[in-house]
Amino acid sequence: MSEANTVIPLREHPEPAHPEPRRFKVFTARQLDKITQLERLDEETRFAMRVVANVLPFRVNEYVIEDLIDWDKVPEDPIYQLTFPQKDMLAPEHFDKVAEAMRGGDKEEIDAAVADVREALNPHPAGQMEHNIPEVDGEKIDGIQHKYAETVLFFPSQGQVCHSYCTFCFRWAQFIGDNDLKIAAKEAGQLKRYVQAHPEITDILITGGDPLVMKTKNLRAHIEPLLELEQIRTIRIGSKALTFWPYRFVSDKDAEDLLDLFREVRAAGKHLALMAHYNHWREMEPAIAREAIRRVRETGAQIRAQGPLLAHINDNADDWARLWQTQVELGIVPYYMFVERDTGARHYFEVPLARAWEIYRDAMQQVSGLARTARGPSMSSHPGKVEIQGITEIHGEKVFVLRLIQGRNADWVQRPFFAKYNPDATWLNHLEPAFGEDRFFFDDELADMEG
Ligand SMILES: *Cc1c(COP(=O)(O)O)cnc(C)c1O
Ligand code: SF4
Repeated sequence: MSEANTVIPLREHPEPAHPEPRRFKVFTARQLDKITQLERLDEETRFAMRVVANVLPFRVNEYVIEDLIDWDKVPEDPIYQLTFPQKDMLAPEHFDKVAEAMRGGDKEEIDAAVADVREALNPHPAGQMEHNIPEVDGEKIDGIQHKYAETVLFFPSQGQVCHSYCTFCFRWAQFIGDNDLKIAAKEAGQLKRYVQAHPEITDILITGGDPLVMKTKNLRAHIEPLLELEQIRTIRIGSKALTFWPYRFVSDKDAEDLLDLFREVRAAGKHLALMAHYNHWREMEPAIAREAIRRVRETGAQIRAQGPLLAHINDNADDWARLWQTQVELGIVPYYMFVERDTGARHYFEVPLARAWEIYRDAMQQVSGLARTARGPSMSSHPGKVEIQGITEIHGEKVFVLRLIQGRNADWVQRPFFAKYNPDATWLNHLEPAFGEDRFFFDDELADMEG
């Protein structure tokens, strides 16, 4: 545990960035050799990177390489770990299999090895998509997920990429959409009809990939029809563009149009929440990133921050304290700390639940109440979002105290429950009920729901 009163270092606040347009230049696995910064790494490390980049997502843009990564701190640099593949992200047997095929040079063999390894990495975790596919007029709609009564998730097909990819994310396995306004309009129509058939829905969460990869005109085609609906109170947009491409809000051709769209949402009397994905305070340091935040806030939109706890990137309390404190100073509301699970490189990034809670608690102790709005550590699991509230001892038994902050059944929300302490557990399915019980309180009902 670190000192409770660790002083958060002051940072210089740079001049606001001039909105000079910047060309979006992106590198994928095939262009690894074109990234000059990698020349400082030895040949073996670069080969390992190519091996892993064949299996896990790799896409990184020039802004991230030049302005976010501190190359003097590589390989420990958190943004480097967030975006560049590392040898240990694959299990040794998986790594060797692909490496061997690559040394052999036979394209078919390489493809087969990559396909095998990917399959073993569970590209579609948690049955997320399979379980909650809704229907409109008897027709299944792929781009909608409706798990909690008041909020529907919407994945526009044009928003299934990101400005860079995070090494721990497997969502890239989703299809890549067609950039066509007609598709946007069709999906928007389905979403609107679905919402109208479900009066309990008040929130729409537009997510991806990253929906802000879309041109503003396509995003507008999704959002405008929703503004006519009285029942919709909040529109959320899940995005990492404030980190990976802040120019989206500042100097891109349709940046101003995007901010106007945000204003329109406000003018229609709805709350607009940009659910910003942040992993590290360094993402908020560049002047351009701060300018983007300022511009978004100026529209009346609220930025809320969420992100997973990850080994090699942010698994210490001081970084979380500074992340939350910086967010508060910039007018962003800390919202969730997640436990990461949906990942191909899980073993590389995972943090035991007991340790996750220690980090959370230790970070909370370093900040004032204004920065204590982040809930967590939270597991987005089958029954709902399960928060680790603490570790304690009750009548001689060491237990995790848990609660659901979201539930498949709203009646489960906020009920405390207990699991046997297990120092190695990294996910809910590793936990057993405490006090000799054989089921958690929601288990029977959950089983019924699944039929
Ligand atoms: C987290 C989540 C939501 C939103 O829940 P809030 O607690 O309102 O932020 C909605 N749907 C799914 C599937 C989620 O995982
Ligand atoms: S969906 Fe989010 S976590 Fe996944 S690569 Fe894109 S920005 Fe990163």
